Amino acid sequence: MKYISTRKQEETNIKTAILKGLADDGGLFMPEYIPQLDAGFFENLPNLSLQEIGFRVAKEFLGESIFDDNLKEIIDEVLNFEIPAVKITENIYSLELFHGPTMAFKDVGARFMARMMAYFSEGKPMKVVVATSGDTGSAVASGFFNVAGIEVYILYPKGKVSPLQEKQLTTWGRNIKALEIDGTFDDCQALAKQILSDEELNQKFTLTSANSINIARLIPQSFYYFWAFAQLEKLGKPIVFSVPSGNFGNLTAGLFAKKMGLPIHHFIASTNANDVVPKFLETGNYESKPSKQTISNAMDVGNPSNFERMKSLFNDDVSEFKKEIESYSFSDEATKETMIKVKNDFGYTLDPHGAVAYLGLEKYSEKSNADSVGVLLETAHPAKFVEVVEDVLKTKIEIPEKLEAFNKKEKQSVEFSAEFELVKQFLMAEN
Ligand SMILES: *Cc1c(COP(=O)(O)O)cnc(C)c1O
Repeated sequence: MKYISTRKQEETNIKTAILKGLADDGGLFMPEYIPQLDAGFFENLPNLSLQEIGFRVAKEFLGESIFDDNLKEIIDEVLNFEIPAVKITENIYSLELFHGPTMAFKDVGARFMARMMAYFSEGKPMKVVVATSGDTGSAVASGFFNVAGIEVYILYPKGKVSPLQEKQLTTWGRNIKALEIDGTFDDCQALAKQILSDEELNQKFTLTSANSINIARLIPQSFYYFWAFAQLEKLGKPIVFSVPSGNFGNLTAGLFAKKMGLPIHHFIASTNANDVVPKFLETGNYESKPSKQTISNAMDVGNPSNFERMKSLFNDDVSEFKKEIESYSFSDEATKETMIKVKNDFGYTLDPHGAVAYLGLEKYSEKSNADSVGVLLETAHPAKFVEVVEDVLKTKIEIPEKLEAFNKKEKQSVEFSAEFELVKQFLMAEN
């Protein structure tokens, strides 16, 4: 399988696509075609484990670039936690993606990517640069922590991540460094892009990106769409996914799963006030905007990086987008009301991101009257946003031990204004 940049000027293999992250022409790598799984796989799906599904799906994208035994080992390590579909109402299920080490869904993609990079880099020194709006950085850090030869630089927006998220970014030490940027997530993302394309830095170091622009983040995020079907197909109804979206990596992975043959009925791209994609589907015009701060901060993205991949999947045709995806934007007010309602009526605690996804399912079912099952991707444990959740629900929530362990450690970060030259100077002085 070849991997081709969305801007068409570069073609390479999976190893290079993963090690580089971003193509030289500024585009994002895509497989040259989306592989198909055979009918036997789908018939047998309810009998497969999450790890077996992961192996089969990953194998299609990776081919002979990695030995089966190595791939199996990586998959088993990455997917060493449960991803249950938990019933909230008769027709709404929460696919809990947050049972990994940092308690956000990004554990799946980031840990797979980290292990693939470590495998392909064969111990050669490398610097990994990652911009984060909250959860990516810690999941990437957890994947790379103590991997020989790899140094990780996390760029995060000062004061714009939750206190617990900040602890999860800044308390690793060793090969993980946190750069605290006085700016927005978009500034961090722009800085990361500049670093990765800077000639001098590239001469001195082998640099790569760990953002959702890396194809190795997307591939494993398609696993759990299959896994949701394995759990819920028996209900005998069409299945709709609501994906709380920021950079649209999670949703793009769902599109991969559907193209591989998974009969997903429809996608709902649920966003907070950062509504570039819902506006695009409404008007046909894509206009990036500065990001707005909300209570679902991991989705505060004004220029979603995976839009370019979605465009290439839909041949740049907005009517093709609309066949597969509805997209709605919701306010913080509506998000809070939903958290309260779902807690009171059904006893289920949603985090703010999951609540945005819940709203998407409600709105879709009002419009479509279809007798479908709605699956919301619950992307973070509510305790990751303890301040917001306790404030909204007016009750204490329990902090899992895994998270409490971060809270007890000391923050270590280096502060910068959002100026490339300063960050560059710092990096040039690194070994
Ligand atoms: C990153 C993140 C999202 C958004 O996912 P994308 O793939 O960027 O669309 C949603 N919820 C949480 C908790 C996240 O960390």
